[in-house]
Amino acid sequence: MKVLILGSGGREHALAWAVKRSEKVTEIVCAPGNGGIAEIARCVPADLKDIESLVRVALGEQPGLIIVGPELPLSLGIVDALQAHGLRVFGPTRAAAMLESSKGFTKRFMQRHNIPTGNYAVCTMADELEKAVEIFHPPIVVKADGLAAGKGVLICQSRRTAIEAAHGLFTGALLGEAERQVVIEEFLEGEEISFLCLSDGTHVAPLAPAQDHKRIGEGDTGPNTGGMGVYSTDTLLEPGMTEWILHHIAQPTILGMAQEDTPFVGVLYCGLMMTARGPQVLEFNARFGDPETQAILLRLESDLVEALEACIDGRLDQIEIRWSRGASACVIASSAGYPGSYKTGFPITGLAAAARVHGVQVFHSGTAQLGNQLVTGGGRVLGVTAAAASLEEALDRAYQAMAEIEFEGMYYRRDIGHRALKRTI
Ligand code: AMP
Repeated sequence: MKVLILGSGGREHALAWAVKRSEKVTEIVCAPGNGGIAEIARCVPADLKDIESLVRVALGEQPGLIIVGPELPLSLGIVDALQAHGLRVFGPTRAAAMLESSKGFTKRFMQRHNIPTGNYAVCTMADELEKAVEIFHPPIVVKADGLAAGKGVLICQSRRTAIEAAHGLFTGALLGEAERQVVIEEFLEGEEISFLCLSDGTHVAPLAPAQDHKRIGEGDTGPNTGGMGVYSTDTLLEPGMTEWILHHIAQPTILGMAQEDTPFVGVLYCGLMMTARGPQVLEFNARFGDPETQAILLRLESDLVEALEACIDGRLDQIEIRWSRGASACVIASSAGYPGSYKTGFPITGLAAAARVHGVQVFHSGTAQLGNQLVTGGGRVLGVTAAAASLEEALDRAYQAMAEIEFEGMYYRRDIGHRALKRTI
C-alpha cells in the first residue's frame, strides 16, 4: 500500500518511520516533508495552508491511506475535502477538529458532557470582560479561542492585566489576528500529562502516556516553545489512572462528539493537569502531538498502519495495540534564538555517529537539504529520541547521541525527564 503523510516536522518523520515498519506498506510519500523524511519517503512540494494543493497531491498519488499531521489543514477541513474525493484518510473532520480549533466550543462541550476541566467564561465582546474576570482569583488564565501555535495562553497576575491581555487578543495586538472569542479560565496547579488516544468515532485506545517540557530553559524557565523534549514511561500514571482518564475524559468526549453528530475519528490528545481534585482537561488537540509522537512511537511494537486503518473502519475494539515496556525520551536540538527569531541554513554534522548509538532514532523537525549538505531549517531542528528498559538509560542514550551532533548555535535542555528522575531516586 502507498501511504501519504501530510506535514513537515518531527512528528511526521516519526510517523513515516513507524509506517515504514508496517509490512503492508510499499511506498511512503510525504507532502511537503523535510531533509530527514526525504531519506525514507518521497517528498513532494505542498502548501499545508492550501487545501486545494494538498487535494491535488493526493489525487495525483492515489494513496491507500493518508495521515494528516498538523492542526492547520485539519481545522481548514482537509479530511472533509479528501473524503469527498473518496480517499481514505486518518484524521478528524473540520467539525470534529473544533475540539482543538476553538477553545470556547471545547469548554462549553466539556460542560455539556460533564468532563472535568477548570472553571471558565467565554467572552465574545470586550465589554463582557470586566464582569467575567470578577469571578476568578488571580492568577487568571486568558486564552485565544483559535489556533495560536502555543502563543495564545496568557497567565495574568491581576484582574486588570487579565482584562488588558484579553483586549490585546480581541484587537489583534497580541497575536496579529483579532480573536472573535476569548476564554477566561481558572489557574490550575499540578503536573501536566499528555494523554493521547486513538478513536474510531466510538471506541478509544490509549497510546503510551507522555510528559513534555514546554519551556525553553532548564528547570522549566523562560518562554513557552513548541516543546523542548518529552519522555514516556509505564510509571508516569499511577495504577488505575489510565482507566480513570479513559472513563471520565476520553470516552465521554468521543461519545459526546458522536451524540452531537460530529463523530471524532483520529488522535484525541488530552492535555491534562493532574490537580489535587483529580485530572482536569487543559486542552484537547485533534492530532498527534509534537514532540510526544517521537517518544511514543518509539515504544509502539504493533503495526501503526493497522491501528489507523482500524480507526477509519470503526473496528478499533477488534485490534490489539502493543507497547514495549520501559521508557523512551526525545530531546530537541533547537536553533539559537528560538522561540524568538533565529537564523537557518547552518550545516549539521554527526548524524551518522548519533544514529549508531543503540536504541536511538534522530527525527528531523526543521532541516533542509542544500545540495549534498543537510542544513538547519527551523527553530526546532532535531528530535534525538531513544528507547530503553528504563528512563535513565533512554535519556543516557539520547544525550550520548546528542553529543555527536553539531550545528552553529545548537541548544538543547539537559534536564529532560527531571521530574520523573526525582521521583525514582
Ligand atoms: P493550552 O494551549 O490550553 O494547553 O495551554 C498551553 C499551556 O498553558 C499548558 O500546557 C499549560 O502549561 C498552560 N495552561 C493552560 N491553561 C492553564 C490553566 N487553566 N492553568 C494553568 N496553566 C494553564
